[in-house]
Parts: sequence; C-alpha cells; structure tokens
Amino acid sequence: LLAAADIVKVFGKLTALNGAYLTVAPNEFHGLIGPNGSGKSTLMKCVAGAETPTTGSVRFDGRDITAASPAERARAGLSLKFQITSVLPALTLYDNILLALQARTSLAGLVFSRTRGVLHDRVMGMLEQFRLADRAGEPASALSHGQQQWLEIAMALAPEPKLLLLDEPTGGMSLEERRVTGELLQPIRAHCSLVIVEHDLDFIRDICDRLTVLDQGSVLDSGTVQHIQASPQVQEVYLRRA
Ligand code: ATP
Ligand code: MG
Repeated sequence: LLAAADIVKVFGKLTALNGAYLTVAPNEFHGLIGPNGSGKSTLMKCVAGAETPTTGSVRFDGRDITAASPAERARAGLSLKFQITSVLPALTLYDNILLALQARTSLAGLVFSRTRGVLHDRVMGMLEQFRLADRAGEPASALSHGQQQWLEIAMALAPEPKLLLLDEPTGGMSLEERRVTGELLQPIRAHCSLVIVEHDLDFIRDICDRLTVLDQGSVLDSGTVQHIQASPQVQEVYLRRA
C-alpha cells in the first residue's frame, strides 16, 4: 500500500533523513520507533505531504505521490491528519466530526452525493466507535486530553482513508487511556492501515504487526515485532540510550 524509498531530507546543514524507507501492506499496523531526533516525525511528514523529501520517492496505492498536493493525497485515500485535522474546541463533538468529513470530502474534490441522514449516521457511528456518542452535543473543550486525542483520530478516520498516520497519539495519556486507545484502534484494521509513532514500546509491541526502527535518519532494521525484538542492532541502540 505504501512504499517510501531512499528518503533524504536536509534542513540547512542538518540531514534529518538519510536514505530512510518505510513499507506498509494493506491492513497492516506499522510502528515507527527510534530515539528522539531520529527522524520519525520528518518521515511521517514526507509521507503525509507536510514536507517534501529532498530526494527519494513515496508511492501509495500504486502511484507516485512524492510531490502530490494535499488534495491529491486525500483523493488517493491518505489520512491528512497533519494538514487539516485538528479539534476545534468551541464546536461540539458532532460538528467537529461533521466538519472533518466535509472538509476532507471537498478537499478531495468529491461531490457530496450523500444525504443528510447518511452523514448523520456516519458522524454518530464514528462517535460510538470512539466511545464519545453520549457527549455528541458537548463542546470539544469539555473533553479530557485523552478524549480529545480520540476525537482527533475519529476525525481522521471519518472520510474512510486507506492509511492513517498517527504521530505520538498517546502523548500525555494515562496508562488506562493508552490501553483503551489500543482497543479503539483494533477495529480499523478491517479497512485501513496504520503507521504509528510511539515512545511507549510496550504499547507499540501490543498493537503493531511490523516495526521500523530509525536511528540518526537511517533505518536500523525493519520487520515483524519478533524480528525487531531479536535484532542485535536495535538492542544496541536502545541499550546505548537507556
Ligand atoms: P522525537 O522523538 O523527539 O519526536 P523525531 O524522531 O520525530 O524526534 P524529527 O522531529 O523527525 O525527530 O527530527 C529529526 C531531526 O530533524 C532533528 O534533529 C530535528 O531537530 C530536525 N528537524 C525537524 N524538523 C525540522 C525543521 N522544520 N527545520 C530544521 N530542522 C528540523
Ligand atoms: Mg517526533
């Protein structure tokens, strides 16, 4: 589904990514891990289109999207959480999801043929899936930090993307909220792939099929969770930094 290859990203004198790669299969949950400053967010941004790689290519669902606009990416089925999904605190939960659905649909240049009833069902369906339905009419500002993160994920998923990109979605969450986040993400596997950046290795081991480990802008290793856990290079980096 996704193949980012030979990605180099240079910021002035700093080489943030130096030949990094990332491949994700349909319905796969893929974890991107590595020390602070190793280039995880930059690689995510190159995939999302928030940054353009200095060199290298990003292919998604059979086409080259390296230089594609946000609209082209949305049309292709990439979740554009980085660009336009962010919770508007004064709006209700319901309106936040509705807005995400409509903004993304118009960004993708799709004509909205769905009726109001279908839209309503979709919004309520997303809120139910993220255990927020009973609070649909409350302003988003009334939610806890963790619930706002869930609302944001629901907004990213509302337009039914083929790939969802999440950069540290459990940042600032309690252990219990983290556990619930893992549960909430599971059902999306049926129709969507996931790339997730997390520092909590237990969390990422539990939910992901495969992992890619970045270190200083390069991929140290990539493979199944079992493979990464047994990888000597990965052990070495994590022990060195521990
Ligand atoms: P963290 O775990 O702390 O989130 P990260 O792995 O996400 O780290 P990046 O944010 O991708 O790391 O940063 C990689 C390197 O690129 C860092 O040295 C960072 O300072 C640098 N960098 C990132 N974005 C920019 C930018 N817009 N301009 C200049 N340097 C940048
Ligand atoms: Mg980061």
